[in-house]
Amino acid sequence: MQEISPDFDFLFNNLNKMAYIFFDPTHFGPVNKKMAVFCSSEIHELEGQSISVILDQKEIETVKKFNQKIFEDGLCKSAKMEIEINNELHIIEVETIPHHNQMGQVDYLLCLAEDITAEIEKEERFYRNKKRYSSIFKKAPLAFVVSDRKTNIIDWNDKAEEIFGWQKEEVINKNFNLIVAEESYSEITDVVENVFEGEKSYNINKNIAKDGSELYCEWNTALIKDKNDKILEIISIAQDISEKIKTKQRIKNQKEELKYSELRTQFFANISHELKTPLNLIFSSLQLLDYKLQNTDSKQTNQFAKYLSSIRNNGFRLLRLVNNLIDLTKIDVNTFQLHRGNFDIIELVKSVVESTADYLETKNRNFRFECELDSQIIACDPFNIERVILNLISNAVKFTAEGDEILLRIEKEGARVKISLRDTGIGIKKENQDIIFEQFRQVDQNFNKKREGSGIGLSLVKSIVEMHGGTITLDSIYGIYSCFNVYLPVDKIDEKTLAAESYAADSLLNKVELEFSDINYI
Ligand code: ADP
Repeated sequence: MQEISPDFDFLFNNLNKMAYIFFDPTHFGPVNKKMAVFCSSEIHELEGQSISVILDQKEIETVKKFNQKIFEDGLCKSAKMEIEINNELHIIEVETIPHHNQMGQVDYLLCLAEDITAEIEKEERFYRNKKRYSSIFKKAPLAFVVSDRKTNIIDWNDKAEEIFGWQKEEVINKNFNLIVAEESYSEITDVVENVFEGEKSYNINKNIAKDGSELYCEWNTALIKDKNDKILEIISIAQDISEKIKTKQRIKNQKEELKYSELRTQFFANISHELKTPLNLIFSSLQLLDYKLQNTDSKQTNQFAKYLSSIRNNGFRLLRLVNNLIDLTKIDVNTFQLHRGNFDIIELVKSVVESTADYLETKNRNFRFECELDSQIIACDPFNIERVILNLISNAVKFTAEGDEILLRIEKEGARVKISLRDTGIGIKKENQDIIFEQFRQVDQNFNKKREGSGIGLSLVKSIVEMHGGTITLDSIYGIYSCFNVYLPVDKIDEKTLAAESYAADSLLNKVELEFSDINYI
């Protein structure tokens, strides 16, 4: 075996790598300790020996060829080799350096080798993980938003595109705030601070999509650091929970509405009865005064009569309001009951017209009544039908001026009776034509309104008509005319139902006075 210098010997044995020498392509020269340990051998078991002591036939051939080439070319070469030691496969990276003698020939090869099995495995694992992660990242059912330390977006997945509406290319390098509603900016700053302090973060944010629509997302945010704890990126994972939040809000609103509606019902029930007691007292006192007046001289009577009429009319106004409120409350809680019978609707409407004739005349309205039918029996509650007609007529008077026309018409249309009331008054704007049938809705809502009323009448009229199986429609041109059409089915009621819904008659004249009390306001 050739000699090597002592300096070289020292280096050779203390190298951090495996080192060995080849004097020919297949035989080891000196071998360092590290190499011996790697081969699970002693140094002397390797030195001067054929490579066959550690390699199998196939490996021998590869090494032989490799070494031969370097002996011939005289050039350094690196290679990765797989060798099996003690039934374990190792990957080593070998750097082979040819030594040239004074004649320029290669006299030996110095090999420096490193076992890189663990590193390779780590690398492979890393790539496998990366591949797995990137496919999850792309197709996950959650939105992934990756941003840098300054919260500028550097990547996001398909779901983020779907939720926020921005393409990936459009958001790269834009700040995360791009998808945050302004009112949540400060919250995001807190989240980032918490995350930088090492806390995991969970929060619900109001976000904003490309089209400006608002959505609520549940966010989980975490830091990705390298092995030296340096922050690489911030990863935020979001789930769109807008529907969940909306449903929660809807349920909350419904509960509140229910509570409010119960309160309102209770309030009306209480207030209505509270109002009725003093009213009854007013009316009985009125009766008494009427009686006394008959026995007083005529000069005083005139004055008293004026005041009495005011008390009487205002009493009726209050009574009408209370009655309507009670009925509306009953309708709300489904306890309003009709008392139907088989009645001649023509006769019913005619008697209402007759009873209002005096009023209409004093108000100077040009009133006409048209009817092609002699009689038509239908199942109806006369008390409530009279209320419907009276309410429509009183509205027609309220919203017309002297000399205006009011036309009440009854006709048969298929299996329905149509009662229409048309006036040439102020009319109703298109946008108000639906809301006037809602409870408490009046077109003229300001306090200085010229006409009295509570906004209850038409909603009650609609409910009563619908309880009869009918409908009410409105046709109007603002400033020109209003026409309310009531359609009632031509049905008859059988004996059994008739007995169940008995009818208590009331004086129609009293009702006229009641319905017209708003107009007679003194
Ligand atoms: P109110 O007691 O205030 O009259 P209604 O429910 O009967 O309540 O009517 C609701 C609103 O509908 C009225 O305040 C008025 O603005 C409008 N309205 C009803 N009838 C007419 C009509 N014939 N012409 C014009 N507007 C009408």
